[in-house]
Amino acid sequence: MDTLFMLLTTPPPPSPLTKPHQFLHSLTPSLPLLPSTKQHHQLIGSTSTRISLSTSSKFGNFLDLKPEHHPKALNFDLPWCNPSSDRARFDVIIVGAGPAGIRLAEQVSLYGIKVCCVDPDPLSMWPNNYGVWVDEFDGIGLDDCLDKTWPMACVYLDEGGKTKYLDRPYGRVSREKLKERLIQGCVSNGVRFYKAKVWKIEHREFESTVLCDDGVELKGSLVVDTSGFASAFTEYDGKVKKRNCGFQIAHGVLAEVDDHPYDLDKMVLMDWRDSHLGNEPYMRANNSKCPTFLYAMPFDSNLIFLEETSLVSRPVLSYTEVKRRMAARLRHLGIRVKRILEDEKCLIPMGGPLPRIPQNVMAIGGNSGVVHPSTGYMVARTMALAPVVAFAIAECLGSTRMIRGKQLYDRVWKSLWPIESRLNREFYSFGMETLLKLDLNGTRRFFDAFFDLKPYYWQGFLSSRLTFVELAWLCLSLFGHASNPSKFDIVTKCPVPLAKMMGNIALESIG
Ligand SMILES: Cc1cc2nc3c(=O)[nH]c(=O)nc-3n(C[C@H](O)[C@H](O)[C@H](O)COP(=O)(O)OP(=O)(O)OC[C@H]3O[C@@H](n4cnc5c(N)ncnc54)[C@H](O)[C@@H]3O)c2cc1C
Repeated sequence: MDTLFMLLTTPPPPSPLTKPHQFLHSLTPSLPLLPSTKQHHQLIGSTSTRISLSTSSKFGNFLDLKPEHHPKALNFDLPWCNPSSDRARFDVIIVGAGPAGIRLAEQVSLYGIKVCCVDPDPLSMWPNNYGVWVDEFDGIGLDDCLDKTWPMACVYLDEGGKTKYLDRPYGRVSREKLKERLIQGCVSNGVRFYKAKVWKIEHREFESTVLCDDGVELKGSLVVDTSGFASAFTEYDGKVKKRNCGFQIAHGVLAEVDDHPYDLDKMVLMDWRDSHLGNEPYMRANNSKCPTFLYAMPFDSNLIFLEETSLVSRPVLSYTEVKRRMAARLRHLGIRVKRILEDEKCLIPMGGPLPRIPQNVMAIGGNSGVVHPSTGYMVARTMALAPVVAFAIAECLGSTRMIRGKQLYDRVWKSLWPIESRLNREFYSFGMETLLKLDLNGTRRFFDAFFDLKPYYWQGFLSSRLTFVELAWLCLSLFGHASNPSKFDIVTKCPVPLAKMMGNIALESIG
């Protein structure tokens, strides 16, 4: 069977006999792999099966525990830019050494382009835990940068035991391996690094100057801003007065636990069950209106990454509320956290207008509109887009034609955002606007129908791979698969977003 969606009517499968899984790279070498003593607690239908915790705090739970591990910086001998001897003149200056910046530096330097990457701490480890679908990294030759893979993912929809099993392997990115591999490429290709914060960028017709907080000025034909969501250098579409973004907010922990109820061979893409709020009427009502789910990567029976997530909200759901819901959920699931190894606060702006195209600073990564408006994912897409943008840069700067200034900006921006991708983004944003309108039950019905689509479509949607026509077909097909209440939701709640999408598509097509 190609892809298996099993609609079960049983509670989540306990997994005392789950097969040992591949743990390619030790996450926490100092952490002993404790023996699995799986005594599963009852999970569903009972709000009285609460496990009391040994810690007491404001939240009565793990939230007061401090993370014990801080990701180590890479140990690398970087070729530094010496502003006086290098004469500080480059073809491309990249602002930021996050995943987007380092990937672009590695790719563009392959063409012999002179690149400098500026970041306050280029060797520090990226702080976020990244998850990707394995085929996304396979397709671009980065599959060896995953430290753990799960052969399947699953989505718990409701208390009645409705669960979707998704036959698509999922992986956790090894930040260390990915960064090491990309930096290694940069070093081999002659990229220079400069340790500073950029505070201003000035432009002349064919050249830009990057002013650093230590007073150094670096000059380049093209500046690429990869400084992330909070960037101050990228401007957004002037036609849209307000950046009407949605926000994904989440609290995540890599935790050592006594036990947990999840299968070791499945990552939990979304657990939408809400029985943990049975004794919390206020939280339950809020969760029904603005739901959160649990995302979980079980590494072994005692080590798990858990993230309570609001898929998208506007205005953004409070972080404290997310953490309270997570505490209630873990208590109900009987997950007793012994140690927090890492934690993360996730806040991702989604949707909203694209950057102004073109403009004299190029952007890629969090600030460039490539975050998936319906899911918040971005890493795999950025890794795949960087070679395309690098090629466009090399065609301009590496050619004897010496294309600079406005023509350069225009070509490079259009390589990231060709018209088809801009049109397609309207569909993904429509997906976000639809999700914003749905309450918990509506969201469950939506994903029930979504994961019933042919794998080609739901996988393509999640990985931004579908063509315009395929996306239009997906919308119709989703409507066809939807239950009657779901169709009612779409008809009553979505005309405005639908009209907005059609209007934007018309504007993009004629603009
Ligand atoms: C907690 C969290 C979890 C996420 N999980 C996932 C996931 O599982 N899968 C997924 O696909 N996406 C995920 N995302 C979304 C997205 O992939 C990440 O935000 C990703 O880190 C964005 O990469 P980036 O390179 O654009 O920016 P960043 O990672 O934010 O890197 C920006 C870099 O620029 C530097 N910088 C900033 N300002 C300046 C300046 N003025 N001068 C010089 N340097 C500067 C910073 O120091 C930093 O090194 C997550 C996001 C968050 C916040």
